[in-house]
Amino acid sequence: MSAVNETLIRDVVAEVLGRIGGATTTVTTSAQAAPAPAAKSGSCGCGTKKATSAPVLRGKYGVFATADEACAAAQEAFLQLQQKGMAARRKIEEIVKTMAEKNAEPWGRIEFEETKIGSLPHKVAKLGLIKLVPGVDWLRPDAHSGDHGITLEEYTPFGVVGAITPSTHSIPTLSGNIVNICAAGNAVVFNAHPSAAKCAAVAVRAYNEAIYRETGIENIACIIEKPTLDSFNALCKNENTRLLLVTGGPMVVKAAMQTGKRAICAGPGNPPVFVDDTCCPTRAAKAIISGAAFDNNLLCIGEKQVFVLDHVADKLMQRMSENGAVKLTSAQLASLTKAAFTFKEGQGGGCAHASVNKELIGKDASVLAQAAGINVPADTQLLFAETDANHAFVQEEQMMPMLPIVRVKSVEEGIALSLQSEHNYKHTAVIHSHDVENITAMARALDTTLFVKNGPSPAGLGLGGEGYLSFSIATPTGEGITNPRTFTRVRRCVMVDNLRIY
Ligand code: NAD
Repeated sequence: MSAVNETLIRDVVAEVLGRIGGATTTVTTSAQAAPAPAAKSGSCGCGTKKATSAPVLRGKYGVFATADEACAAAQEAFLQLQQKGMAARRKIEEIVKTMAEKNAEPWGRIEFEETKIGSLPHKVAKLGLIKLVPGVDWLRPDAHSGDHGITLEEYTPFGVVGAITPSTHSIPTLSGNIVNICAAGNAVVFNAHPSAAKCAAVAVRAYNEAIYRETGIENIACIIEKPTLDSFNALCKNENTRLLLVTGGPMVVKAAMQTGKRAICAGPGNPPVFVDDTCCPTRAAKAIISGAAFDNNLLCIGEKQVFVLDHVADKLMQRMSENGAVKLTSAQLASLTKAAFTFKEGQGGGCAHASVNKELIGKDASVLAQAAGINVPADTQLLFAETDANHAFVQEEQMMPMLPIVRVKSVEEGIALSLQSEHNYKHTAVIHSHDVENITAMARALDTTLFVKNGPSPAGLGLGGEGYLSFSIATPTGEGITNPRTFTRVRRCVMVDNLRIY
């Protein structure tokens, strides 16, 4: 790095830190690779005690006690990344992808042990997939050339992105977000789900240690060690936070939209599946099982309810049984429903509203079966049962490996009920059909971000289908499957009358 650049970084960082409370700290650049200790109050030798204590940004490797410290460190790292250019961005992408895969087994295990939801092999598998998340190569400038010269539109960073991650895939979401966000030249501060925050901090620390070793940037991805609603608010309010990325359910999406900051929201889903009489029932059954059973149905894209034409319903369910899913009787379904939901009377005597029992979210099918009053083999992937369209298992995003199957009389009814059960989340829908008119009608009616035909839902994220992967699918705010471009500002640079070379 040139002396000018280094001086520039020091000046800018000093100014930024000054703005967050007159604090002082040591700025580390690649030229001084070793982390310096934090400045101690009154330790300069002049004998005067400083009024404010310095934020401790050194030696933390991204893990901070407060949102303000994390944001200050991330802002400093953003400025360093700006100086170190595309090579550093590529290095960060490479480190995160390589480490996620290398640590898939231990990190999958610590996430599973902390959250106690989902399936251990699938937690490990999700980390092995981070290499499919798009990075630096995704950003290509757009050029215009004509009689009046040339114009370049570039995808440039915002600065610090505040990111909220779910309990359902803590380290995978965080890792994919770092790849996307840093590929675009930003830094990031995470407020993880409190029940999946320890494992997230382990990954953040490990990523930063490696990134610091290779690039000299110490805190490109930061995390608040003990996240709370207060730290969420502080992260959103911090002046360095330029943009929010929220991955979670309806409450956090609403909270983020009320902050006044621009929020990219990867919100909840309740993906319906419609099965008509033109598809291959064996292929449909296998696809439905593999999508709905993955990680015990924790995926936001995972199949949550099936509508099937009446005259092919028995065949579909038979194929599901033949392929490892276990059908519950109506009495067993009633027992499981009692355990899986509590029903509170609506205010003013309206319909009872079902709340999901968190104790059963993401649990194994064999655990749900016990609540239903039967024993099934421990490796059973999925339970299913016939229900009506208003059943709590259909209407709630229950995230359990228990799939409700609803018979419908016509394609129109199947599409209408699919639409109703999706609750306008505009997230994901699936169809099994070889009739292009049925496919087109459902795609138009549901208007979802992802629409998968004749495959399991993960095919919509490039897993067995074409396309790329992200664990943050921006639904209510419309950015779609997030990628590095999602986290950029488009800036135009115009040369008038020159540099067009023919
Ligand atoms: P959750 O909504 O309980 O938590 C998500 C995050 O938001 C957590 O970090 C949590 O601490 C925080 N949070 C929750 N309520 C908040 C509030 N009022 N203010 C501030 N922060 C708040 O979700 P979860 O159970 O961890 O994850 C499952 C949900 O996330 C499901 O609804 C699922 O569909 C959705 N999800 C969506 C995507 C997507 O890409 N669209 C991906 C994964 C999960």
